[in-house]
This record gives sequence, C-alpha cells and structure tokens, in this order.
Amino acid sequence: MKHRSLLVTGGCGFIGSNFILEMLEKHPELRVINLDALTYAGNPENLASVEDDDRYHFCHGRIGDDALVSKLLREHEVDAVVNFAAESHVDRSIDNPAAFVETNVLETTRLLHAARGYFQELSGGARERFRFLHVSTDEVYGTLEEGSDAFSETTPFAPNSPYAASKAASDHLVRSYHHTFGLPVVTTNCSNNYGPFQFPEKLIPLMIANAVEGKPLPVYGDGSNIRDWLYVRDHARAIEVALERGKLGETYCVGGDAERNNLTVVHTVCRILDQLRPKPEGAYADQIAFVKDRPGHDFRYAIDASKIAGELGWTPTVSFDEGIEETVRWYLENEAWSRAIHENTYQRQRLGSL
Ligand code: NAD
Repeated sequence: MKHRSLLVTGGCGFIGSNFILEMLEKHPELRVINLDALTYAGNPENLASVEDDDRYHFCHGRIGDDALVSKLLREHEVDAVVNFAAESHVDRSIDNPAAFVETNVLETTRLLHAARGYFQELSGGARERFRFLHVSTDEVYGTLEEGSDAFSETTPFAPNSPYAASKAASDHLVRSYHHTFGLPVVTTNCSNNYGPFQFPEKLIPLMIANAVEGKPLPVYGDGSNIRDWLYVRDHARAIEVALERGKLGETYCVGGDAERNNLTVVHTVCRILDQLRPKPEGAYADQIAFVKDRPGHDFRYAIDASKIAGELGWTPTVSFDEGIEETVRWYLENEAWSRAIHENTYQRQRLGSL
C-alpha cells in the first residue's frame, strides 16, 4: 500500500471497524489513527483484537473539532483521511433530521477544512500521496422502479430521506473542495452492507437477535423493498482500491450485484437459523410480522459497479449466499457482543430497517 498512515473517522462503527481490521491484517507497515465520537453507534469492542497493536491508535473526538483533527494529521503525518463518520440510520433521521445535518454536513465540512489546511502545508511525495476518501451511500440517488437501470456515477442525485439528503450534501461539499481548493478527494457510493459488527437496529442483525429471543420479526410494509447487498469486507476492499488508485475528484459506485427484497432476506436468515439453531418446534419464519411501512420508504436500490470494476479491477468476492451464512454464524457465536449493546446503550424500540 502506498499510504502509510491513515486517519480513519468513525472507525468504531460497523463499516469503519471492518475496514480497519482488513487494512491492519493486510498491511503490516500501515498505521491507523481512528477518530470516533463514540455515539450510540460507535463500539470500541469491535476493535478489541487490535487495541494492543502498536500500529493502531484510538482518539475519542469529533470530526467537527478542527483543532483536534489538525493536530492528529500533523502528529501522525497522515497521508490519507478515510471518512466513515456519520449519522447513518434512516429511521433516526426521520425522528431528528437536524442531528444528521450537524454531523454529515457541518462537521464533514469542518473535517474537509482541516484536511485542506494540512494538505496546503505538504510538499513532494507527501503531497502526491495525500488523499481524502469520502465513504458515501447509494441512497443519494433516490429510488428505482423494478426493472429500471441500476444507479451509476452519472445518475442525478435525488435523495428522499433526511439521511440521504445529508449524505448528498456531504458528497457535494467533498466535490467542491476538490474543484475549488484542489483537495485530492475520491468518493465511493455503496449499496447496503451486511456482516459482523453491524449495530443491531439494522435489518439483518435485528432479525437474528429477535429470532433467537423468540420475538416478532418486524418487516416493513409487504417486504417487497429491494436492496443490493454487499458483504462488508468487500466494501472495505473497494475503499482500499479507490484510495490507492481512484482518479482524483471522481466517484465510484460500489455494489454487490445481489438484489434481494427484504422479505427474501428475512426468509434466508430464518432458513439458516433453522439449520444452525433449530427451534424445538416450528420454524423461525413463523415469527415474521408485517408492520406499517416507513414514511417515504425507497422502493429499490441497485448499483451498476462497472466503473470500479473496469478502472480499478474491483469486484465483490463474497456471494450473498456465502456472506449471509457467515454473518448469521458470526452473530450466533458473538451473542455477548449484541447483548452488551442491548443492555447498556440502546433500548431496541425501533424496527429493523435499512
Ligand atoms: P455506523 O453508524 O455503524 O458508524 C458510524 C460511526 O461514526 C460510529 O462509530 C460513530 O460513533 C461515529 N461518529 C458519528 N458521528 C461522529 C462525529 N461527529 N465524529 C466522529 N465520529 C462520529 O455507520 P456505518 O454503517 O458503519 O456507515 C459508515 C459510513 O458508510 C457512513 O458514512 C454511511 O453513510 C456509509 N454507508 C453505509 C452503508 C451501510 O449499509 N451501513 C452503505 C453505504 C454507505
């Protein structure tokens, strides 16, 4: 890897922690500084396996604290920022849009500002190497009809939830820092991720937890909403190639080529649970309960990932069938991880969602 010192923001969350683990496993020379505010979604336990690793350094703080960010950039001679930090849950954005604007728009701008100040001081190879990689979502593109073309880098933005709107705004600001100030940015827009360490309010971990606890499995509407599912470590590898070889100022759509509707996903989880941990009687699917749909619920997301495949040689390596089985196994083997979150930090009132 040409980068030696990464400032990863939001690294205690779901994707950030998987990214850090993947990078430290693959690159023995790499140092990672993880700046995380430890909101309800941030869990340092995700990185317990590397906390004693000299190459890993955790800093508790916010991306909007530009004095702190500037200090970290200089102190650790950072040569790339990988920005995962965000408010990320659509339902929460419907309850409290302003919190999403605060973190995803205002604080991201302060982070960009600090990165720009630091970049201006760099010269030679350090300046050549420096990157700001912004991790974003396919939700900025809005929603698709069944059978219509998948989202690509040229799809116009049409965000529908406050979450998606705040991410779209952050994507625009990242773009503007490249165009106006020459900051070397690359943005990725990815579809729905699944895998270990996902906060248990999201669809797949919530279904697993509720199923084994004998609780209802709440499915929005009739369960026909479609998402394109990507195993989280494949996303980590896509971010790595975009960071290393992505063209400056460009965006890359990342997806799993694995469209499934929610009901199919829930049935798949139930079928795997029936095999791995059979109930004394009946099947887990008997617990499925349809509930009132989310307001403004996007019908379908799908990604055309041919640009990142063609330009950077990235394609997903884990099929949905393999990844979902591995994921269900992981949650069954790590029930203490989910239980600690439920008991300590989060009262599970919300529905499983995407
Ligand atoms: P997450 O909610 O699990 O983690 C977010 C992390 O950011 C947490 O550790 C939290 O403590 C931290 N954080 C929040 N505000 C912060 C702040 N102001 N300063 C520093 N840290 C802060 O999210 P995730 O699912 O891991 O998503 C990570 C990124 O990837 C987000 O930007 C999200 O929009 C994007 N994304 C997610 C998905 C998905 O399926 N989960 C898909 C595509 C893109």
